[in-house]
Amino acid sequence: MAHAGGERVAYFNGRIVPERDVRVPFRDRGFKYGDAVFDTTRTFGHRIFRLKEHLERLYRSLRYLRIDPGIGLEDLRRITEEVLHRNLPLLEPDDDYWVTQRVTRGLDPSDREVFGQSGPTVIVECLPLPLRERATLYRDGIRVVVPSVRRAPPDSLSARTKTNNYLNVVLGDLEAKARDPEAWAILLDVNGNLAEGIGSNIFLVRDGAIYTPREQFVLPGISRETAIELARELGFTVHERDIDLFDAYNADEAFLTSTSLCVCPVRSVNGVELGGGKVPGPVTRRVIEAYCRLVDYDFVAQYLKRLER
Ligand code: PMP
Repeated sequence: MAHAGGERVAYFNGRIVPERDVRVPFRDRGFKYGDAVFDTTRTFGHRIFRLKEHLERLYRSLRYLRIDPGIGLEDLRRITEEVLHRNLPLLEPDDDYWVTQRVTRGLDPSDREVFGQSGPTVIVECLPLPLRERATLYRDGIRVVVPSVRRAPPDSLSARTKTNNYLNVVLGDLEAKARDPEAWAILLDVNGNLAEGIGSNIFLVRDGAIYTPREQFVLPGISRETAIELARELGFTVHERDIDLFDAYNADEAFLTSTSLCVCPVRSVNGVELGGGKVPGPVTRRVIEAYCRLVDYDFVAQYLKRLER
């Protein structure tokens, strides 16, 4: 479908409009307090991945925050597909999108009249994946740095919710990047076990078995679930349990999972090289290959191709 000026469109409170016409009032509680949730999936070769699972997670986050989106999951699924369909012609053949739903609690009652809006703010949008920026990670592996900032405990704010308030992991990421500008932060939980990063889950491999933190302390990443499923199908034992820095430094391999990364090898943790610094390790490689088969798309080649340009 043609677009005036080739501009992407987004869904905004009932209408699909050019992105520049998505104007959220500055007193929206999502902006004021981070009082909002979101969820993001991606496309592989322009086909959307596990949209239903992402929407189910979005609705669990909404329920936790007691935000009524005023729209059912099925309708939001249809809208998401429509927004993607309208934006796909703007993508280069070997690019892909992040596809995101955002729901805020909207305006406080006293502000509703001023802005002529009541009810939640609902947005669905697409953004090309940062393939070029992240391409070296697949060649060199990710350098993980563990900051001093701890992941907020689940009895303060459940890590299972994908809220707009990312300050906790943002602070961790700033600290890690101050030590190494290219590092990715993985925060410890309040008990000193590995938790997660700003947008990724962590896995360790030791003696052919795979370990990842328990769900209560991390977001149940859809890519995390996919990697667990695939690893088990490949015959690996996957333990969801507490793992700490001792486990990390003694791991043979490690990898991060996220919607954009899928599965990406880790080279080092706090400067300690794993598996002699060779990435990906053999177990990580098999999980990556299985992931590529599942999505019927070689996402590693998609990233690495950017290094040649
Ligand atoms: N943890 C956090 C805090 C995240 O924001 C994300 C990204 N959604 C993840 C883990 C990975 O989840 P997913 O695999 O669903 O992208």
